[in-house]
This record gives sequence, C-alpha cells and structure tokens, in this order.
Amino acid sequence: MAKFKVEIEGPFMELYRYFREKGYGIKESKELAKPKPVVIEFDEFETFSECVKEFHRPGFVVNGSADFEHKLPDMPIGNAFADPDEEELNIRDLLTKEFHLNNVEIINAILFWQKSEDVKHLTCGNDSNHRLLVPGIDTENDTIVLGCQDCDYIEEKVPDAVLEYYNSKFKPEK
Ligand SMILES: [Zn+2]
Repeated sequence: MAKFKVEIEGPFMELYRYFREKGYGIKESKELAKPKPVVIEFDEFETFSECVKEFHRPGFVVNGSADFEHKLPDMPIGNAFADPDEEELNIRDLLTKEFHLNNVEIINAILFWQKSEDVKHLTCGNDSNHRLLVPGIDTENDTIVLGCQDCDYIEEKVPDAVLEYYNSKFKPEK
C-alpha cells in the first residue's frame, strides 16, 4: 500500500555502521553510506519508522516520506480528498510554527501517540478495524498526513492533541 523513503545526512562512519549492523558487507556498506543524502527505501512501515527514529538525533538530518497510492475508485470528487485551499494551508503553517515541530518531529509525535496506551488511537475513517493510521508526507504541500495501511483512507490534518501531547512530554519548556 505504501512505500516509505528516508533521506539521511550525517557522519559517514555512523551510517556505515548502520548498514553493517543491518547485515551488509564491508564494501556494500561503504557504497550505501556514501551518497549525500543517503536514501533508503522500505516496504514496511515498521522498518521505516525504526530507521527514522535511529537517526532522529543530533548530527543527522532526516527526512521521512511515504507514497500512498491515491486510488479512489468509488469516491466522489471532493469531500475528504479535496485539495486543501489556501486558508487550510495557512492554518497548517501556523500550526507547525506554533508547535515548533518539523516534519520528522510530527512523524514522531504521531508514532508516540499511536504507541501510547492512555490516548484514543487514530483509526481509519473507512473501517476502524483496519490497522492504526501511520504518518506520511504529502510531498506537494510538504505537510504530514495520516494514512491507513489497509485501504486508501487519508486524513490530511494531524489532530492538535497529538502535537500537544508530544510537546508536553518532550518539550515542556516552550
Ligand atoms: Zn482503512
């Protein structure tokens, strides 16, 4: 359903070690760690988020993205999938600034929320029995969206509560 991509810039040796730990040979790991940025693709969300978290630390610049297939066979044009208008985009900009979170942090905020036990998890709008929603990047608008792993459902707005919750745990001094 979704293909995930991580772009990482950081110290060569640490990237090299990462690939070695993943089981690649010495020569291969050197080649893989060389590009700036290093680009790694994942088919599974779990391995993708593992990698994002691994490099979400000082010294590294990490960009995570996901391509969701926008197949909308039975959906009328408009409603939930309509392109956001200017006002909505401005609100998102404000939101991002207000919470001082970059895209990677918003991804982490969503993961943190989905893994927390004392919150109401974000579920698919089509079928709440589908697996929990996962973060992805709307590359056109460079905003984080939520996508279902089992169908085409996309939620374009990350609830404020998710970002507030993350901020309250990790950024208490604002
Ligand atoms: Zn779904």
